[in-house]
Amino acid sequence: TAELISGTEIRKDILAEVKAEVEEMKAKHGMVPGLVTILVGSSPASISYVTLKVKTALSVGFKEIQDDQPDDISEADLLALIDKYNNDPEIHGILVQLPLPKHIDDKKILNAINPDKDVDAFHPVNVGRLMIGGDEAIFLPCTPAGIQEMIVRSGTETSGAEVVVVGRSNIVGKPIAMMMAQKGVGANSTVTIVHTRTKDLAAHCQRADILIVAAGVPDLVKPEWIKPGATVIDVGVNRVGMNEKTGKAILKGDVDFEKAKEIAGKITPVPGGVGPMTIAMLMKNTLKSAQYAIKKKA
Ligand code: NAD
Repeated sequence: TAELISGTEIRKDILAEVKAEVEEMKAKHGMVPGLVTILVGSSPASISYVTLKVKTALSVGFKEIQDDQPDDISEADLLALIDKYNNDPEIHGILVQLPLPKHIDDKKILNAINPDKDVDAFHPVNVGRLMIGGDEAIFLPCTPAGIQEMIVRSGTETSGAEVVVVGRSNIVGKPIAMMMAQKGVGANSTVTIVHTRTKDLAAHCQRADILIVAAGVPDLVKPEWIKPGATVIDVGVNRVGMNEKTGKAILKGDVDFEKAKEIAGKITPVPGGVGPMTIAMLMKNTLKSAQYAIKKKA
């Protein structure tokens, strides 16, 4: 049976490491990382995401500003708000919770965030920095960064490994593929990206020493597609029903987990795999941003 790579456990370790570095920063420099979460409107899903980010930021010792704005805020006022935080030296990370109301252009808002405070790493400048790699890539997008961290911390060899990424989205597939192909620790892999137009999905997956699946299709990856001993990272989160007792959604990944775990060497579960990592990497990016600000001042 495969070794389980637990995102819940790795997240705990990362948050503890971030907290320790925040304490050190406070002692040495008399400051802590500052994060602002901007929530427009009152969608219950958005509120629950923002609440979790705020709680986690406070738990690691950040300064956290929760800036809630009404549904009818104008685009100009929201841009002015972002500008205010772009120029606030105590703020190192700016998060705008998506989706935004229809009268506001998401892209315009995200592109207005100072790239050096863009801890989600969605700004084109940060996408470009990721592509260049090395020291340029100050922030990596949180879900791909979490995937890479899990691969490294599970002791999986990446150098020269065949990595197959299923999916080519801007938030998961494309960035993780580029990151694994870069030079450096947890990378140096030979990468193949497969997607809906790929001719023989099974054949590609069967070659993978590391299989990263981000398609959003439950049980897309069959057990016979997995190379014995491979590391399987299942990013998919699919609601496949509802638990009548708890009223909570039943979640399933993109990989047939029960059968896959008999073939893979290491595997991530859903839930409790990649999901919990994203928020931990967000905290890590905010810490990095504050460290970078200190370096720039020195
Ligand atoms: P997306 O829908 O934007 O992209 C899916 C990609 O998968 C597409 O590029 C498509 O070509 C490919 N694909 C879809 N069906 C396929 C098929 N049958 N065969 C081959 N390729 C196929 O999705 P996304 O935003 O990248 O998210 C993917 C999954 O990961 C979703 O289930 C999402 O909920 C989950 N996700 C989880 C986290 C997290 O846990 N933190 C973060 C982001 C996304």
